[in-house]
Amino acid sequence: MSKIKVTDLYKQYGDNHVLKGINLEVKDNEVVVVIGPSGSGKSTLLRSLNKLEEPTSGSIVVHGEDIAKKNANIDKIREQIGMVFQHFNLFHNLDVGKNIMLAPVELGKLNKQDAEKQAKKLLKVVGLENKFNASVDSLSGGQQQRIAIARALAMNPDIMLFDEPTSALDPEMVGDVLQVMKDLAKEGMTMVVVTHEMGFAKEVADRVVFVDEGKIMEQGTPDDIFNHPKNPRLKEFLSKIL
Ligand code: ADP
Ligand code: MG
Repeated sequence: MSKIKVTDLYKQYGDNHVLKGINLEVKDNEVVVVIGPSGSGKSTLLRSLNKLEEPTSGSIVVHGEDIAKKNANIDKIREQIGMVFQHFNLFHNLDVGKNIMLAPVELGKLNKQDAEKQAKKLLKVVGLENKFNASVDSLSGGQQQRIAIARALAMNPDIMLFDEPTSALDPEMVGDVLQVMKDLAKEGMTMVVVTHEMGFAKEVADRVVFVDEGKIMEQGTPDDIFNHPKNPRLKEFLSKIL
């Protein structure tokens, strides 16, 4: 079953045509990894899936509703789709537990007591069960990113979007964050992940999508993409990063 269906998606900023006719389907429980050069439109695509960007044209159907429409219900979309960014943007004036509890309490999904219970459960999921009362600033970058993942999960989304979640981390922090993402994938979370971590893509992706100059140039299984690339731009890209 299709969870997300993107059809003929175009996005331009002024004269800058960033997405030029993206067609992409993400199925239930699927992990799709998006790769491509810097500036090719990967973040714009991901942000469009969460309505952080208004498409110029095209449709994005999530749970049967076209979220590209101007009157789409943003709150409902953000409840169903969690997003994790390169820069984790935690609230530094709130301790860890409050960061995770904030959205479900503010939006009336959970009372404080249940939100606290859930936050503690999520801290276990991301391997930081003793950090409920910790201040954000006392955590390493990798720990903060795992808290950001827990915070996104607190809304109980059934789709998770990751935009280069490990790109801002010191190398020794990357593994723990990827492990949390692998666990989520194993649990059946539907995920769209922009990353330069090709090891993750090979191991976890059901499908790898190569984006260049605002278009999907090639997509396939990790084996197709990494071992039998066809598109010359993909071959060139891989030769630079592998
Ligand atoms: P990627 O994530 O693949 O590096 P982006 O989607 O971030 O690519 O950016 C693609 C292009 O869109 C770039 O040329 C970038 O400058 C432009 N762009 C992205 N966001 C904005 C914005 N908010 N306003 C204007 N231009 C933007
Ligand atoms: Mg980007």
